[in-house]
Amino acid sequence: MKQFILQSSPDESGIVRLSGADYHYLARVRRFTIGTVFNALLPNGETARIRVRAVNGDWLEGERVADAGPALMPEAIPLISLFQALPKGAKMDLIVRQAVECGVAEIVPFTSAYSVPKIADDKDRIARWERIVREARQQSGSSVATVVHAPLSFDGLLQHWTVMQEQHGDGVKGVMLHPFAAQAARVAQAARVAHAMPVSFHACLEQSDTSKPIALAVGPEGGFSPSEAARFTEAGFTALTLGNTILRTETAVVYAVAAIRIILLERTSWILNSSAKQ
Ligand code: SAH
Repeated sequence: MKQFILQSSPDESGIVRLSGADYHYLARVRRFTIGTVFNALLPNGETARIRVRAVNGDWLEGERVADAGPALMPEAIPLISLFQALPKGAKMDLIVRQAVECGVAEIVPFTSAYSVPKIADDKDRIARWERIVREARQQSGSSVATVVHAPLSFDGLLQHWTVMQEQHGDGVKGVMLHPFAAQAARVAQAARVAHAMPVSFHACLEQSDTSKPIALAVGPEGGFSPSEAARFTEAGFTALTLGNTILRTETAVVYAVAAIRIILLERTSWILNSSAKQ
């Protein structure tokens, strides 16, 4: 269900006036006219129904109506945080859009050893990603308020992970997507890490606590370097593989987020091998 994200709340009498890009989008792109009722997401996270009551040459006025509209059931699954190694060119725009559509809560881009782009803090790019997030939330009706961060270095990313662990405690899960998980495990074993054995998505997510996020690390076109793979596993990430084809990074993200979400959303209707054996 499409929704429009309001930058400011309606006033005490429930009126909101929109101009600039918001006006253009609603009046010109969506062709809203007087009487159109649309779903809006307010800055405080509430949803509202707004009826267009006036359209001028460069502004549009709406009023909040009592009808609450169809309610979205919140999903009882953990938030997904995407640790995305920066890919080449405009691919990151596509990844941001698809991640929002798939309900990813946080996107943390980072420069990895084999990443081609080495940007540190490009304000225009970050503003563009934020715009893409807003458009994708509006188009998809996602109730997840996706946040996109400025790109981090690999060390900065691991620090971000440490903060996540400090905030949420033991149950936070880290998944590193690796086309050759077994190879990643050997790298980690060489570094004498206990939890290096690759497991399945089901086994990894079996005991997920819905209040704790899941971090998903996806490599750039060139993949993760052996030392990055080892550092992820040392930091507690589980190396997982998605079958035996090499996927493009932008495909791998969608594939993995879908796998995680389906397993978690449908977990009560699946019987895991480990529980079936008991
Ligand atoms: N030549 C690279 C391929 C990178 S593909 C390599 O050998 O690693 C880009 C990224 O997508 C990978 O780093 C990984 O995170 C993800 N990916 C692609 N195919 C995958 C697969 N079959 N299983 C798990 N992750 C995969």
